[in-house]
Amino acid sequence: MSGYLQQEIKFLSGVGPKKAELLNKELGIYSFENLLYYFPYKYIDRSKFYKISELNPNLSNIQLKGKIISFEMAGAGSKKRLIAHFTDGTGTIELLWFKGLSFIQKSVSLNAEYIVFGKPGYFSGKYNIIHPEIEDSLKSKNVIRAKLQAHYNTTEKLKKNFLHSKAVSKLENNLLLLLKDKIQESLPDYLLEKYNLIPLKYALINIHFPQNPDLLKKSIYRLKFEELFYLQLNILQKRSIRIHKSKGYVFSKVGDSLNQFYENNLPFELTGAQKRVLKEIRKDIGSGKQMNRLLQGDVGSGKTLVALMSMLIALDNGFQACIMAPTEILANQHLVTIKEFLDGLPINVELLTGSTKAKARKGLHERLLNGDLQILIGTHALIEDTVQFRNLGLVVIDEQHRFGVAQRAKLWKKNIQPPHVLVMTATPIPRTLAMTIYGDLEVSVIDELPPGRKPIQTTHLFDSKRLRMFGFLRQQIELGRQIYIVYPLIKESEKMDYKDLEDGYESITQAFPPPKYAVSVVHGKMKPEEKEAAMNLFVKGQTHIMVATTVIEVGVNVPNASVMVIESTERFGLSQLHQLRGRVGRGADQSFCILMTSYKLSNEARKRIQIMTGTNDGFEIAEADLKLRGPGDIEGTQQSGIAFDLKIANLGKDGQLIQYVRDVAEEILDNDPELKMPENKVLRNQLQKISNKKVDFSQVS
Ligand code: ADP
Ligand code: MG
Repeated sequence: MSGYLQQEIKFLSGVGPKKAELLNKELGIYSFENLLYYFPYKYIDRSKFYKISELNPNLSNIQLKGKIISFEMAGAGSKKRLIAHFTDGTGTIELLWFKGLSFIQKSVSLNAEYIVFGKPGYFSGKYNIIHPEIEDSLKSKNVIRAKLQAHYNTTEKLKKNFLHSKAVSKLENNLLLLLKDKIQESLPDYLLEKYNLIPLKYALINIHFPQNPDLLKKSIYRLKFEELFYLQLNILQKRSIRIHKSKGYVFSKVGDSLNQFYENNLPFELTGAQKRVLKEIRKDIGSGKQMNRLLQGDVGSGKTLVALMSMLIALDNGFQACIMAPTEILANQHLVTIKEFLDGLPINVELLTGSTKAKARKGLHERLLNGDLQILIGTHALIEDTVQFRNLGLVVIDEQHRFGVAQRAKLWKKNIQPPHVLVMTATPIPRTLAMTIYGDLEVSVIDELPPGRKPIQTTHLFDSKRLRMFGFLRQQIELGRQIYIVYPLIKESEKMDYKDLEDGYESITQAFPPPKYAVSVVHGKMKPEEKEAAMNLFVKGQTHIMVATTVIEVGVNVPNASVMVIESTERFGLSQLHQLRGRVGRGADQSFCILMTSYKLSNEARKRIQIMTGTNDGFEIAEADLKLRGPGDIEGTQQSGIAFDLKIANLGKDGQLIQYVRDVAEEILDNDPELKMPENKVLRNQLQKISNKKVDFSQVS
């Protein structure tokens, strides 16, 4: 059937070149297969037939079965209409048409049995249906009967060209009549049996033309199962190939660097979660396979320390290590933190960023090559080809979603064998999503904050309470704290936003006038140097208030900042709000997050605010976000594109099924890693088909 399925859509009866072009452009439907997998978004029950005697004026769409006993042409001009008197034996109603009159009269005959569908109206003592759908109940042999009527999303443009939902349904009908006996099963029989799945053929027929609600349910389940199953099988098989093929440097011992650090420098106990994650990492890097691990941990959970200790193990085994961060500020902060942690130990750490001067750069290059420099911290400047290591063993990538796949892949090439890779993210991704988009990576989670942190207190205030809020900020400044005030991002086109920030800045400098108060401002329109300079004033404690757009979102660490005010909160997404809030609560002081909004709030915005004031837990927030927005918007999914490939499953809502089919896939691969057994031939073929189609995301790190 694959030959059939790949045929261009214009060759389907009822399509033709013009409609084909519209289907291409508007819905991305190019082939028979595309149409077959263009699924309805809702169904209307067509199983019930009403009797005319049962009608009442409050009914919505209804279905009747009966015959037309007479026609009548009435009115004139634009009021001209065709009236058909229709009866089912219990009464009569009028069917009315204002357009296509002669066509209707020609194609509908008296005394044949028809099924009529539409919304009944009531006018001067009589029921009527205007422009009903009408079908010959006997004659239409070429129609697949359905108890539930499928509805398809179409666009305005399509509708204008007569490609409304009903027309799409007709095309599906034509297609299924053509393909019905050629649809090959895409799952092995033993899986159908074991997991109680209906055959593909029935699922495809019933998803478009459900014979009954139960079959529809089974069809949806079968198709979701298959979709998610192959996604997982694909990921897991690639992973297993990588694990078997890729060799990794073996870091077998723990030596002076880590021991000395642990005994003399580590200023606190590791949390249980940090210990667990370090164990997971040590297992990987000691295994002889290349580590490719994602470390998820909420903001402030202590990922840097875990990264540092992993790097020390690399050093102890004669290797170098590097950390790549998305901005200079972050790279700089890592340098300061790490130097502080390593104080007094004989370990050489340096910084390399875009602003490193040529001469210093040359020195760094030399020291990297001769091995004198052991830990290099930097921005994407690290990736450049001129940066060569003597023996790079571990690459740490902070805030990984800020880097492109190609950028990251370059780091793999910095040694003869790829170095171990640890990618870190503070944007927690719900398990089910991580399992799918990072299915190829091992995932570690720090799910515990260091002890003694005071949970951030989050409050929601309407704009009218601004003066009260300013009063609170003054108190905090009095106590020696610093404050962030954040506005929605400035984009070139969004003049409004800029105005928000400008006005805000002005009113803030009025409320907090110099010389008593110092305010700095950072936004996306500033040059990187200006941004850095303004940021640095705040980092060094020279300004009290930082007015900013979301450019400060990622990773900035100013422990003395204890208040985060977010303006126009309703315009931010949940994960962004959580990231922003994570900028405070990093020191010992009680911290606060104040969410400012106008009175006008959508239901969704209200929910987001409720969630923010209700919990500090990043994972809980990420789950809620996924449910509210769907996975397409969650960071990480864009770059993988997976969420958009799904035709029927939903990464947000089908979490349980993802876990379930992943286990199924794992079990199969355990028994037959290369899918060589005869009963798995179908699986092998399907995977082949999938990998022909898809970009390879298996090496996301
Ligand atoms: P993030 O995961 O957001 O990168 P950091 O690594 O910046 O978090 O850690 C946040 C703060 O917590 C740092 O000041 C760090 O020194 C501190 N920290 C890390 N681990 C612990 C621990 N086990 N006990 C106490 N403080 C810790
Ligand atoms: Mg960090």
